[in-house]
Amino acid sequence: MRFHKAELFFFLLMVLVVVSGLFSFAGYSAATGGFVVGGIETAANFAFMGSVMAGLSAVCGFMLVYPIMSRGLRERGKLQKMTESLSVRSLSLEHAAVTDSLTGMYNRRYFDDALAEYLEAFGHINKPIGMVILDLDHFKKVNDTHGHDVGDKVLREVAECLQVFTRYHDVLARLGGEEFAILSPNITEQQLYSLSDRIRQAVSELRIVNGNVTLKVTVSAGLAIWDGAETGEELYRRADKQLYEAKRQGRNRVCAA
Ligand code: GH3
Ligand code: MG
Ligand code: MG
Repeated sequence: MRFHKAELFFFLLMVLVVVSGLFSFAGYSAATGGFVVGGIETAANFAFMGSVMAGLSAVCGFMLVYPIMSRGLRERGKLQKMTESLSVRSLSLEHAAVTDSLTGMYNRRYFDDALAEYLEAFGHINKPIGMVILDLDHFKKVNDTHGHDVGDKVLREVAECLQVFTRYHDVLARLGGEEFAILSPNITEQQLYSLSDRIRQAVSELRIVNGNVTLKVTVSAGLAIWDGAETGEELYRRADKQLYEAKRQGRNRVCAA
């Protein structure tokens, strides 16, 4: 068995304390006559040895045991701080893994997970779930005409506009590029259509100012209500098909299955 340096010093300290105690006791006994070895001189010798040992114990405690103990405590404090900052870092990494860095919205990964969870949960209670896919119209032209940075600004402002329309349980995400999606539980097709059309209208009324240029954009949307049996992927494909239909019919409109 191997001992740590601090443990060895601690044992040494204990031995010194015990020996000094023994010397003090012997000195006291000799002085009071209970422990007869040889008169006053012996009592003084024992008392002196007891004091020397007590002194050594104090020196050993302050010079050896205390520094090791306080260094250990300081290291523990540092370790605790490091652990705390690591857990903050891992929380922010978790957040980054499900967030779109341009708009601050949830990303596709989060959306796919939420979709799977919602279908599972709402399947049990037999409640509807709606999905809307939105795609900016002729967005490539915005980039080509005004540059990528202006395109990014448009994406951020459209994202802000979409946030306004979502309820607490809705999941809003940027799926990629200029495509967004809303997952809306407990909603009828008419309600979802009306929500999508209000969003479409609001986006078309946005005025995005960049220097002395003011930009207008429009969005097309496709929606579908979960049929209770299809997979998330199948629901997405149905909504996407409606989006394609909205584009085909001339854009800046909402189509439902
Ligand atoms: P449609 O009406 O048919 O949807 O036409 P569109 O031009 O919007 O669609 P298209 O798929 O042809 O072009 C999408 C463009 O979106 C091309 C790409 O450069 C741009 N884009 C994708 N991601 C980003 C981004 O993060 N920032 C910017 N500024 N542009 C992006
Ligand atoms: Mg587009
Ligand atoms: Mg697109």
